[in-house]
Amino acid sequence: MFEIEAKTGEASGSLVVQGRGQAAVSGGAGRIEAFAGRWSVPAEPLRRVAEVYPFRTSAHFERLMQRPGDPIWMQVVPDPRELQDAGGFRDPLGEEERSPVPNLVHRYPDRVLWIVCNRCAVHCRFCTRKRRWTDSVPADASLQAAGLDYIKKHPEIRDVLLSGGDPLMLHPSTLEEYLRALRAIRHVAIVRIGTRVPSADPDRITPELARMLALYHPLYVNIHFNHPREINSRSALACSRLADAGIPLGSQTVLLQSVNDSAEVLRELFVGLLRLRVRPYYLFQMDLMESTAHFRTPLHRGLAIVQSLRNRISGLAIPQFVVDLPGGHGKVPLLPNAIHRVKQDRVVFRDFTGKNREYPLMPGEEDELKRFLSAE
Ligand SMILES: *Cc1c(COP(=O)(O)O)cnc(C)c1O
Ligand code: SF4
Repeated sequence: MFEIEAKTGEASGSLVVQGRGQAAVSGGAGRIEAFAGRWSVPAEPLRRVAEVYPFRTSAHFERLMQRPGDPIWMQVVPDPRELQDAGGFRDPLGEEERSPVPNLVHRYPDRVLWIVCNRCAVHCRFCTRKRRWTDSVPADASLQAAGLDYIKKHPEIRDVLLSGGDPLMLHPSTLEEYLRALRAIRHVAIVRIGTRVPSADPDRITPELARMLALYHPLYVNIHFNHPREINSRSALACSRLADAGIPLGSQTVLLQSVNDSAEVLRELFVGLLRLRVRPYYLFQMDLMESTAHFRTPLHRGLAIVQSLRNRISGLAIPQFVVDLPGGHGKVPLLPNAIHRVKQDRVVFRDFTGKNREYPLMPGEEDELKRFLSAE
């Protein structure tokens, strides 16, 4: 029924270096030398890391780099610190154990996350599914059928989130098979696609692809963007093709140490995304993934950033800051506490300039409100 991955060309000049356990795609070993040569950096340290966690970038992403170590570079170029991180987990969100069928994660009652492609436009060094770069269950025809069968038999599933890897790295006709099959299931109300292609390899978003996607509404696309430099004329064109196809666009951003962990950088990113008709959706605290500790920020950093953006830029531009709980216990939003004090007849709020402001309480409201707010 499905023909997976085999048909997918390495269209837009992806540069790949495979580590152990992966079939060679384009280029093969040797590309890392070429990359290091173009940037006049030693290849050996990169190669050592890439043997464990393969290197992959796109020509587009490489064009966005200005110098070694910059915020674009850090996202995709192997870093020796990846091999020095003794902590973390291989599957920090416990996805494997919450997969009733391989590649299909059923964590919340009414929705599933379905990994339909193992490939990505680039390999993000902080990825929570890095384990899958080398050990993944192939998204083959039998798993397709098994995933579809599971969704069919579970009428409580209203929302199917296609993920990966990256579903937009599938050949469009393969992706269309998935969409058509899902649309044929009456209880599946919406389909979402999570992708990094519009930011990392935007030329893959062709007018034909957008026209095909538009046949399967209601379809939502969430795009992974981390830095304002990822917004340029090409990614803007990719987003406008999708938006013109009537697809509501959202974004997901990972809060990354030394890449985007400042209010100035994230403000520029979020207001820039709104101009592309992309509504910022989630800002993620780093997961406890092995080999990624150098990207992790303290929790208060994200809270401070969200607090400083609130009311200073359009509310539409502010995503929810969330922690995906270790072990697969789900996402929880984190909000800066705007309540300074609860009194018997009123609440004292902190406004966005830091001044105290009061709001009256109804009689007897105090205890219940305090129960909602309690934290040790
Ligand atoms: C994030 C996630 C979803 C979608 O969550 P929303 O809050 O609805 O965006 C669904 N399933 C899994 C396993 C997830 O990790
Ligand atoms: S595109 Fe997404 S799945 Fe792929 S490496 Fe980056 S974060 Fe991971």
